[in-house]
Amino acid sequence: MLFYKKLKSKYNLLMVFLLSLSILLLSSCSESTEMKSKTDFKEGTICTINLPIDTNDLVFDECFAILDQVESQISRTDANSEISKLNKNKTAILSDETYMLFKYSYELARESSGAFNPSIGAAVSLWDIVGDNPRIPSDEELNNIDTDYKKVIFNDETNQVTILDNMEVDLGGVGKGYSANKLRDYLAGQKINRAIINLGGNILLMGAKSSNQDWTIGLQDPKDESGTSYILLALSNTSVVTSGTYERYFEKDGVRYHHILSSKTLYPAKSDIISSTIISNNSALCDILSTTCFVMGSTKALDFVNKYDDVYSIFLLSDGSIVTSENFDFEYTILNENYHMI
Ligand code: ADP
Ligand code: MG
Repeated sequence: MLFYKKLKSKYNLLMVFLLSLSILLLSSCSESTEMKSKTDFKEGTICTINLPIDTNDLVFDECFAILDQVESQISRTDANSEISKLNKNKTAILSDETYMLFKYSYELARESSGAFNPSIGAAVSLWDIVGDNPRIPSDEELNNIDTDYKKVIFNDETNQVTILDNMEVDLGGVGKGYSANKLRDYLAGQKINRAIINLGGNILLMGAKSSNQDWTIGLQDPKDESGTSYILLALSNTSVVTSGTYERYFEKDGVRYHHILSSKTLYPAKSDIISSTIISNNSALCDILSTTCFVMGSTKALDFVNKYDDVYSIFLLSDGSIVTSENFDFEYTILNENYHMI
């Protein structure tokens, strides 16, 4: 009897072992890491969405529809967007979502003492750097506009915002990050938990490449026009956003004028940073801070980023040095031998 019991428990043990082995094998076989991607031109940039191979195409359609919807909220090229109407009429009652994004952007304007400035729109219009007729505005033109973010009036009860007559709002520095967050929310609602959302270099990663491997993300080398990466980062479940001046600019008389403006000079911001990357879970914050840090320059920017929890930065400086925030502990590989981590 005792012998039989022993045998039975041994048999049970074997069964449990075999069962768990098959589950293990099954799960490793069924873990498909294959993805499919779709690309479209939205929000003035190339947007590519990578989703698991078995994803229904309707999900992609809905993602691009979400990007269209954000454009209808904040685009400055769409004359009917909420922000365009605000800029035209100088006052508007915004939808709840746009109002929230608006308030968030102005909160960051205050926190960054105007390095990030959503009220810089009139200067952006004059320069038209990403538009059809980029030019250097005259001093008189720049003196006649108002870019003081502190002068915007909010009404939290009614969502009404009011700006000055010679002021324009520009949420171009947060739009792509905000959109990426929205796409993540939508995909999570569809029970999709692996994705690479790339909105013109504004990247949001859902999940990891596989259960034991991060995604590998390359940051573009600003000194190499062919689009090679200067560094590879191992990342998962986070957003990574880079601002630089190597893509959107125009040149006149040998001088390069880029699209990130200084609130102080209303000219393209001068910075020792040539590639400003922020990593955090919140893509809208990444988007804002990557622009902000560029404007601040590396010394101020590192202090600034270190104040935020769970926000990491990596800046490539014009002298080839790479600096990171205190908490930066991601695996990386530097690909350009002229650059070095300090
Ligand atoms: P990109 O991803 O193209 O580099 P950014 O996220 O860095 O864009 O934002 C740049 C855009 O934000 C500009 O094209 C302009 O519309 C707007 N902008 C320019 N300067 C500032 C600033 N100092 N603060 C906030 N927005 C700005
Ligand atoms: Mg940005």
